[in-house]
Amino acid sequence: MALVVQKYGGTSVGDIEKISHVAKRVKRARDAGHDVVVVVSAMAGETNRLVDLCRQVMNQPDPREYDVVVSTGEQVVVGLLSMALKKAGQDAISLLGHQVAIHTDNSHTRARIARITDGKIRENLKAGRVVIVPGFQGVNEKGDITTLGRGGSDTSAVALAAALNADTCEIYTDVEGIFTTDPNVVPEAVKIPRISYDEMLEMASLGAKVLQIRSVEFAKKYDVPLHVRSTFSEAEGTWVTREDREMEKVVVSGVTFEKNEAKVSIRHVPDHPGIAARIFGAIADAGINVDMIIQNISHDGFTDMTFTVPKGDLEDALSIVRPIADEIGAKGILTDDKVAKVSIVGTGMRSHSGIASRMFQALADDGINIQMISTSEIKVSCVIESKYTELAVRVLHNAFDLGGDSV
Ligand code: ASP
Ligand code: MG
Repeated sequence: MALVVQKYGGTSVGDIEKISHVAKRVKRARDAGHDVVVVVSAMAGETNRLVDLCRQVMNQPDPREYDVVVSTGEQVVVGLLSMALKKAGQDAISLLGHQVAIHTDNSHTRARIARITDGKIRENLKAGRVVIVPGFQGVNEKGDITTLGRGGSDTSAVALAAALNADTCEIYTDVEGIFTTDPNVVPEAVKIPRISYDEMLEMASLGAKVLQIRSVEFAKKYDVPLHVRSTFSEAEGTWVTREDREMEKVVVSGVTFEKNEAKVSIRHVPDHPGIAARIFGAIADAGINVDMIIQNISHDGFTDMTFTVPKGDLEDALSIVRPIADEIGAKGILTDDKVAKVSIVGTGMRSHSGIASRMFQALADDGINIQMISTSEIKVSCVIESKYTELAVRVLHNAFDLGGDSV
């Protein structure tokens, strides 16, 4: 007998029929003798609808009241699922964030979980009930409702699994697991059976949107094995776990891409101590995330600097950089929002050489020019012209033999 936390995403609880289906799955785990804690998202589309309602009233919604509104989506689902379980003959109880309680800090709209008290959950499990908890919400010191940021239900589930010392945390979604790349781009993409936390973190932050990044950080920190799988199939999904020997044999696990970036170049920047700190300090102060940065070799005391930011932040970044560029005597700013980042990720890169050059050669063979490169121990990313994104992903998937037929 195990303790399992099951998390069901918005598309898995999108209507009453689906909620009944989830109830059956939950009951099955319970019938198999396991203690089950269920974490749910709001019905698909519901959180967007609630956010939109807030914005209709207030352009920049009041954060405290925003959390009061947007946390309701999950509350509806916990009640409905609990009823569906009771109807199916399985005792169940819903416990809201403040009832559990899931304590968070005070940052409304993107709160962080500080600690979870598990007494009430354990009591109810002991009484034979399935406990159903809304994802995405918690309670701060003042007793106010907080939310964890979009996609936060994953983090709720993993945090609960960690607090309860659960045997596994199953993440039920509408895809079969984590794939070698987006199957919409490369139909030969295959499901990855096992992947390390670090690879998953790279994949998640590089544009594979199955799990909230914070949930993977949490899982890594507390060593919670995650099983990402489909609500609508019995197949095993992808296990996200601690790294092991087997994983090292796989050089490249996946190819990811991100189209939501823009490139900024500042030309002819004085090559002095403090200039980079000044530029990027100002951008960071505005809360803008800079991704890649390249500084060219300097000629006659001047250099060019290029970096990328999310497309939506380009205008803000420019309004910060322009006055600084003028002041330091730079010779102009160039921007390009028709860029994309393609990346290869794999734990095995640590112990294999020549991976980056294989990537560059594969892109070159198809005439794709590389504009920027960045690397970490387990990934290589290239910025390219965005119209070549899909081609580049196919080429790389092929170059590293990730397709179904070759495995
Ligand atoms: N319902 C929230 C959202 O849509 C949280 C979640 O589903 O993970 O962002
Ligand atoms: Mg999600």
